Amino acid sequence: MSFAPLPLSSKATILRGMGTARAAALQEAGIDTLRDLLWNLPYRYVDRGSLRPLGSLEMQGLETQDSGIVTVLGTIQDLRQSTTRVQRMALTEVLLADGTGTLRLLWFNQPYLGRTLKPGDRLLVFGPLFPGRHGLEMRGPQFELMVREGDIGWVRRYLPLYRRLGQITGRVRQKLVTEALSRAHPPEDWLPLELTKDLPDTLTALRLLHEPPDESEAQELEAGTTPAHLRLASEELFAFSLGVALRRAGRLKRQGLVVPTSAALRERLKSFLPFPLTGAQRRSFKEIVGDLTSGRVMNRLLQGDVGSGKTLVALLALAMVAETGGQGALLVPTEVLARQHADSFTRHLGDQAGTMQLLLGGMKAAEKRAALARIASGEARYVVGTHALFQEAVAFQRLQLVVVDEQHRFGVKQREALKEKGGDPHWLVMSATPIPRSLALAIFGDLDQSVLDELPPGRQPITSKLFKPESAEQAWEQVRRALAEGRQAFVISPSIDPSDDEGKVQLRDIQAMEALLHGIFPDEAIEVVHGRLKAEDMATRMARFVSGQARILLATTVIEVGVDVPNATVMVVDHAERFGLSQLHQLRGRVGRGAHRSCFLMISGSEVERLQTLLETQDGFRIAQRDLELRGPGEFFGVKQAGLPRFQVADLMRDRVLLSRCREAADRALVLGLSEGQVEWLRREQARLKLAEIS
Ligand code: ADP
Ligand code: MG
Repeated sequence: MSFAPLPLSSKATILRGMGTARAAALQEAGIDTLRDLLWNLPYRYVDRGSLRPLGSLEMQGLETQDSGIVTVLGTIQDLRQSTTRVQRMALTEVLLADGTGTLRLLWFNQPYLGRTLKPGDRLLVFGPLFPGRHGLEMRGPQFELMVREGDIGWVRRYLPLYRRLGQITGRVRQKLVTEALSRAHPPEDWLPLELTKDLPDTLTALRLLHEPPDESEAQELEAGTTPAHLRLASEELFAFSLGVALRRAGRLKRQGLVVPTSAALRERLKSFLPFPLTGAQRRSFKEIVGDLTSGRVMNRLLQGDVGSGKTLVALLALAMVAETGGQGALLVPTEVLARQHADSFTRHLGDQAGTMQLLLGGMKAAEKRAALARIASGEARYVVGTHALFQEAVAFQRLQLVVVDEQHRFGVKQREALKEKGGDPHWLVMSATPIPRSLALAIFGDLDQSVLDELPPGRQPITSKLFKPESAEQAWEQVRRALAEGRQAFVISPSIDPSDDEGKVQLRDIQAMEALLHGIFPDEAIEVVHGRLKAEDMATRMARFVSGQARILLATTVIEVGVDVPNATVMVVDHAERFGLSQLHQLRGRVGRGAHRSCFLMISGSEVERLQTLLETQDGFRIAQRDLELRGPGEFFGVKQAGLPRFQVADLMRDRVLLSRCREAADRALVLGLSEGQVEWLRREQARLKLAEIS
């Protein structure tokens, strides 16, 4: 059989054996064309050289729970379904044999396995080994069924594994990929030569990754760093970089509102300052003034560790526009924080405080109406609010600057919504979670950066400690001491709901913690705050803590960002293992704000090694880096972060160096001008990767 070569844009349904059910399954998975099919790489490669004969598996080194993953291949000799006695869980037991020995496999709570598997099936299994009652066993291993549906056999060194897509099993998918590879026409190459030197062409790269030749490097293959990976990653990162460069070029062409400066304005701004700026604050503000007076639209990221004084810089920037007849908005993620900023602005602004307006979702109707009217008339020149600012009813008279605090909590769409409310306001985003430039670009697109790398003077270092749950009494003792000295304490609980537990570990929820605290500190007033409180309740409870009427605040991470209570000098975080490192660092930033020595105490029975990072350094940049390495950008920013591009091969952390080469290449390509073919390729790639459109 011979066919004319197919362009990668051909529908995947053109492949053999594509009934309607399979076509629907592909569609469901977002796979429309051969290109889509081929760019979805195997999730794993099994190296035949790494297969272990069952007879060779030993207990050795398995005394510790985690023995590393082993891969084995065998035939199901026996399969049994039962229910465990104590917990009443469905138990599936399989006895796997390969001629050299046998291995017991156990799965809990997956009764359907009894229908999927049967004796005689060949299974490829990978997972950690455990010493069991009847010798070695694997609990809940991953597996691939190697027979049925025309198993293609395993003739090469590497077996690529694909995830099942509805009707389409991994094996069937592999057959589709093989056919697509053999029939595909090589696509045109739109990458600049400087990027593709020494790398295979696109189609070859796809072949190398779907059908790795025996001489491929196992480690590189697994890590995603073969030349073939680099080729595909370069395509994604170059498309991404071109998009960013184009947006930037577009922005630089737009007329930005020129904010006028004068000696009088500078004097005015100075009068708002309660203390001299740090060097870093002064430098950052200068950069902002440069933008605001440049005639171009500002798009700047202000990064700074917790406590570096971002708010003051924001206030100055807002004052620049407010004091010259414009309006500025400060957008923050929580109502608690909005109120706090509004209070501190009121203090700093002195006789101008009347031009400040708070806007919250939880406001009473009449109050909100009045606020909206003041914003619409331009009477409110400093507007502080939460996501309520995104609502359609909010109209500004002349919005000239938007400052966003803790930016990564807002989705890109929300930012766009706010953008539409003003002609083309200047944009300053502030992040307390320092992120590498590659990620900043991915999330914020084209931007300039200022960094506050200096803390205001007079900060006391914070002592950090980690306690096992059984030694928690030592933590409470430190709280007791702080209270005795007239200080206040935060206690952080991971959850308001025991059902958040996922059945994995015993979790002490916030109610249990409250009871515990009342037991330990019977004479103290304790306020409890969490995300499910009505805004009003939250505000009253916070106010009681801020004023010192209550000296213990028990909270979920609603207080993670920004809350400023200088008299609070001790924080205890329960179940610290449930938090990301950067999140813990943020929490830690809530203490150590006054003149007194502070301590940050974590209670955790697990992940001690990870948490150790916080004891070793107070540098938020280093902590964020570690956090990103451990969790990857998706987790790091939380699932809700809508703005991250969906690269299929590239990895913004791993491929940082490649990204910077792609960015340089993209800048050069723009200078030379893009060909029509390149523009079309770019649009297609942007759609495929769900990157922001070229505007
Ligand atoms: P963050 O960068 O975490 O948002 P804040 O803006 O909340 O930090 O500032 C932290 C604390 O430092 C606040 O109490 C603020 O008043 C104080 N602060 C800010 N700038 C200075 C400065 N230049 N000198 C002294 N204290 C400052
Ligand atoms: Mg802040």
